[in-house]
Amino acid sequence: MAAGEQVSNMFDTILVLDFGSQYSHLITRRLREFNIYAEMLPCTQKISELGWTPKGVILSGGPYSVYAEDAPHVDHAIFDLNVPILGICYGMQELAWINGKQVGRGDKREYGPATLKVIDDSNSLFKGMNDSTVWMSHGDKLHGLPTGYKTIATSDNSPYCGIVHETKPIYGIQFHPEVTHSTQGKTLLKNFAVDLCHAKQNWTMENFIDTEINRIRKLVGPTAEVIGAVSGGVDSTVASKLMTEAIGDRFHAILVDNGVLRLNEAANVKKTLVEGLGINLMVVDASEEFLSKLKGVTDPEKKRKIIGNTFIHVFEREAEKIKPKDGKEIQFLLQGTLYPDVIESISFKGPSQTIKTHHNVGGLLENMKLKLIEPLRELFKDEVRHLGELLGIPHDLVWRHPFPGPGIAIRVLGEVTKEQVEIARKADNIYIEEIKKAGLYNQISQAFACLLPVKSVGVMGDQRTYDQVIALRAIETTDFMTADWFPFEHSFLKKVASRIVNEVDGVARVTYDITSKPPATVEWE
Ligand code: GLN
Repeated sequence: MAAGEQVSNMFDTILVLDFGSQYSHLITRRLREFNIYAEMLPCTQKISELGWTPKGVILSGGPYSVYAEDAPHVDHAIFDLNVPILGICYGMQELAWINGKQVGRGDKREYGPATLKVIDDSNSLFKGMNDSTVWMSHGDKLHGLPTGYKTIATSDNSPYCGIVHETKPIYGIQFHPEVTHSTQGKTLLKNFAVDLCHAKQNWTMENFIDTEINRIRKLVGPTAEVIGAVSGGVDSTVASKLMTEAIGDRFHAILVDNGVLRLNEAANVKKTLVEGLGINLMVVDASEEFLSKLKGVTDPEKKRKIIGNTFIHVFEREAEKIKPKDGKEIQFLLQGTLYPDVIESISFKGPSQTIKTHHNVGGLLENMKLKLIEPLRELFKDEVRHLGELLGIPHDLVWRHPFPGPGIAIRVLGEVTKEQVEIARKADNIYIEEIKKAGLYNQISQAFACLLPVKSVGVMGDQRTYDQVIALRAIETTDFMTADWFPFEHSFLKKVASRIVNEVDGVARVTYDITSKPPATVEWE
């Protein structure tokens, strides 16, 4: 957990309690889209331990049945907060369970669209919603009205599609407003948050910059110093720029050149961060060290481990050279964690919670006795990008495709040598250059070239060649969990293939990867 005051204390916040639905994070996402700050916590959250007061509470859907013995239940203290409450699907069943237990197995499962029939919209929850399509996904249903509630909407299969407490602002809906299949779902969430909870719509990145800079200053104090690794990607650059705005040169960025970065990457990052953004950056060329450790290694997992461990070692060694002006040790480590990682680690997926700490960070925190500072931990990726634009980070960097920590080492299959990295790098550079020229970069989620250490015969200028293969990959995805390959025009592929074979020594053939994820992964190793 990051130290310091919480964003939820600085903006009106809707609390989303997660019962494990695959859509829970979308509730948060939608609320943020109309500038309302929302935070998700597991359904087991004790309200007394919250440390802030929400403007409203949403209980998410979930895979359990409320009547089952091991079903999760909410802390009843939410009812003492005296703020509006909205139960979605499992959330509504939970409200019903608490007030009369009239929940059981339905005759049939209902999965898919239904038409919402609003019978009472006097409370404004369903304003603009009548006859709209709503998305259902449930097997259990209410067998009767919970004590003290009345029906405000129905659907063909759900007589209690919408309910409200007779005297309190507590609502339940059977459908999922957070998915786009519910055509007016966003309207409902807005009606709830704005009209019923009176949450201020002031969650903007413009406002976030100021509050976050103040928060960082308070947290770090007037003299302490902060260190952080940059990678050339959007997250670490945005986080570094925020730190620089907040504490200037007391923030030290380190770029470790591990020898498997993209073509001219270290020089480009230095130029952009130092000259363009005024970030106090130290570039460490450790490429020989990394490449010598990778010598002879072909196993992908081993490559990843070697790079991770060598990184910690190099980073610590270089960090020791920094002498803070206050005469003390460096106290904080900056980390560009984003909200999806936070959600991943706190979401309610059954009795045990999965907590994930990034390998590198965990090691550094322990060895160097640092405290973690994570200015982006409340933000979704598109919010980070917007923030980056506002902070003056170049557009190309803000919209850059993700790049893996082990870099080109996992895009050179088999043994990683300087020569092999060079081939992969050059091919990748040509490929990305052509993608940008064709105006396709922003339509593609991730694109890169892989070097396959397989020799094949070719002919160039009447000479027989016997060289390796470049595989091109480009995928489209919204969440990187599933992905499809990008349907390039044949003429585009033709051009890239011809350039690569002609311009990159050591390549005889180019192939295009047409496998989706699953069954393949995005990266080849
Ligand atoms: N498991 C409950 C049911 O089947 C709730 C489902 C949900 O929240 N989507 O009705």
